[in-house]
Amino acid sequence: MLSIYNTLTKRVEEIQPARAKSVSMYTCGPTVYRDAHIGNLRTYLMADWIRRVIEASGYEVYHVKNITDVGHMRQELVETGGDKVILAALAEGKTVQDITQYYAQTFHRDEARINIMPAHEFPWATDHIPEMISIVQRLEANGYAYLNGGNVYFDVSKFEGYGKLSRNTGADLLEGVRAEVDPLKRDPRDFTLWKAAEEGRDLKWPSPWGDGFPGWHIECSAMAEKYLGEEFDIHTGGVDNIFPHHEDEIAQSEGAFGKPHVRYWVHAQHLLADGAKMAKSSGNVFLLDELISRGFDPLSFRYLCLTIRYRHRMNFTFTSLKAAEKALTNLRNRVWTWKNLPPLNGSAVDIEEWRQRFWRLVENDLDMPGALSLTWELVRSDLPGQAKLALMLEFDQIFGLDLDQVPASYNVPEPVAVTVSRRGSLRDQSDYTAADALRSEVASQGYLLEDTTGVPRIRPKTAMEQQLERWPSVSSSREVESYLGSPSEFDFTFILNAYGHPEDVQRCVGSMLRYSEGYSSEVIVIDNGSTDGTGDWLEDFQANNPKVRVIHCDHNVGDAAGKNIGLKQSRGKNIIILDGSAEIVGDILAPIGERLADQSVGIFGPYGLTTDDMQHFHEEVEQGEADAMQAYCMAFRRELLPTVGLMRECFRFYRNLDIDYCFQFKEKGYHIIADISLPLVRHEHRQWTELDENQRDELSRKNFGRFLRRWGNRPDLLINPEAQGVGSSFFHH
Ligand code: AMP
Ligand code: ZN
Repeated sequence: MLSIYNTLTKRVEEIQPARAKSVSMYTCGPTVYRDAHIGNLRTYLMADWIRRVIEASGYEVYHVKNITDVGHMRQELVETGGDKVILAALAEGKTVQDITQYYAQTFHRDEARINIMPAHEFPWATDHIPEMISIVQRLEANGYAYLNGGNVYFDVSKFEGYGKLSRNTGADLLEGVRAEVDPLKRDPRDFTLWKAAEEGRDLKWPSPWGDGFPGWHIECSAMAEKYLGEEFDIHTGGVDNIFPHHEDEIAQSEGAFGKPHVRYWVHAQHLLADGAKMAKSSGNVFLLDELISRGFDPLSFRYLCLTIRYRHRMNFTFTSLKAAEKALTNLRNRVWTWKNLPPLNGSAVDIEEWRQRFWRLVENDLDMPGALSLTWELVRSDLPGQAKLALMLEFDQIFGLDLDQVPASYNVPEPVAVTVSRRGSLRDQSDYTAADALRSEVASQGYLLEDTTGVPRIRPKTAMEQQLERWPSVSSSREVESYLGSPSEFDFTFILNAYGHPEDVQRCVGSMLRYSEGYSSEVIVIDNGSTDGTGDWLEDFQANNPKVRVIHCDHNVGDAAGKNIGLKQSRGKNIIILDGSAEIVGDILAPIGERLADQSVGIFGPYGLTTDDMQHFHEEVEQGEADAMQAYCMAFRRELLPTVGLMRECFRFYRNLDIDYCFQFKEKGYHIIADISLPLVRHEHRQWTELDENQRDELSRKNFGRFLRRWGNRPDLLINPEAQGVGSSFFHH
């Protein structure tokens, strides 16, 4: 039987279900006002592996995963403005049900894509309002709840065990309460069970306390009790659920039913992306759909999650996902090979020891990375292939990588099959050169020949194999060589950090070429993870334009990182960074060259900004010294970069990055100079116009914070000598 780390007892414990041969398990499921991202999916994968291991031990698992279609709303209004998204959808004429049905359906689709076994029940919160009301009534009857101003609160002081899961007590607990203190609460630690509906609220239900809606946590107490009983075995979620969600759930359920709520609490650590917490406001939230659109097999993500223990943070990168995809393809190829072997005759091979080693690993706190290493040890062992296959398919009952779906042979279209047999005859005649030429022909038809076992076998290339053949790509700016220390080879380098929209890219790059004729110059375009055909267009364009060089990123590496790739690769004396919305309409290189010849100038460009308070930057400097230059067009000398540095890559979104970078120049004593008469025009700035208001606010706020934390106390760098800084006190209120 599985042993697992219990957050409640802080120990790894063997699971002893309350009922013989049957385990009850509850998983905090998705909030269906938005997409489930790959971090959420990692948490559901953990529950899936728990279930598979327990089932393989001969137990039945009854699994419930709730769908949250109410309750989080208040919390999210505070944290992410989630309600604004809903309001926007409602304004478009969609109903709340349309929205929740849509996201629930994409959630089920994504779970299926990565082989997460469907729960036996997916209860929806709004279908269980009477059950929630009934628990609140029991809490009132048991003296754990009080009514104030139409709201019902849980009285934390009455529940002795409060804090036993999260170990949050006293002061810590107070700090953990995120929202501003509600004056109707007796104690700031108290939490809402039922909230009176405010004027104009649509989503509300009648209750003994008037029209209102449930608190955040009560849904899980109610649905768990309804489907699993007052006490059950396993409850899973992500670590962010421990407090307050699960702590409050324990208080409610134990307060209402008077018995222990859950025997084993299991929490998955978070998934980070590119080293940072996955958050919309950081622009590093990834969906399974995006991985698929970049050519990945969704099961590669499942494989990747096997490589990191659930209790450890997992840093998602495209480099690691590519490695996972490669390993998975390799495993599938082995299975394909083994499936072609004749049945094994003679004495049976002893596979029992392998089996036992496997079970010891997976039952030991879900050591999937260990089990995966064992699998590779098995692959490399000298066991007969047939025995490897049998074991592998057994292991895969737990892994869930669909290895049994690998066919013994693939369907190959007639023309490809003909080429393969022609190649076979050439090889028989030892004409290896001609045979190799046919292998390439097969490859260009989208198929791969493998000769490992002597018998040539053929399979279609995976989407990723085809993708990788199209062009090389980088996953981060670190992978790109820097030429910054080498002498200049051109007078000018243009850099465009492109985000798709081929027509914008064509317009911008076209204007670079048109107005640099006769100049010594190069054009570097960073294809920052486009999936809309921009990459293909750039490949063709580069092939026909020797001045143009394209660097593809396998995902959006962020604005600063994309630009840094261009900076590192540039070899021009002067660098001009343009935005895709900008278009050159006349000779800009002569004036730029002239201005940058002045050694006191740091950044030169047309659209200068000023500020008096570091908080509001105004687009008003038409000529002369400015506090910052907007990134639609900024030019500077390449030789300054070793002193000034590259851009700060925590800026994944463009906003304020330009201002931040200007301050790097000013700190080193260089001036920012504007001249609106540079022949440029600005078109629609899609990186901005594509966002809804909510996203704009959030992304801007985060970047503004990054800027202020670094430069807020440096008003001395501004032109206006009376300017006020906003220093660090701004953040420590
Ligand atoms: P939510 O839809 O926000 O209720 O989250 C669904 C589940 O995903 C919860 O169990 C969360 O704890 C979990 N979760 C949220 N963010 C992450 C993350 N970055 N990595 C792993 N799990 C997460
Ligand atoms: Zn929950």
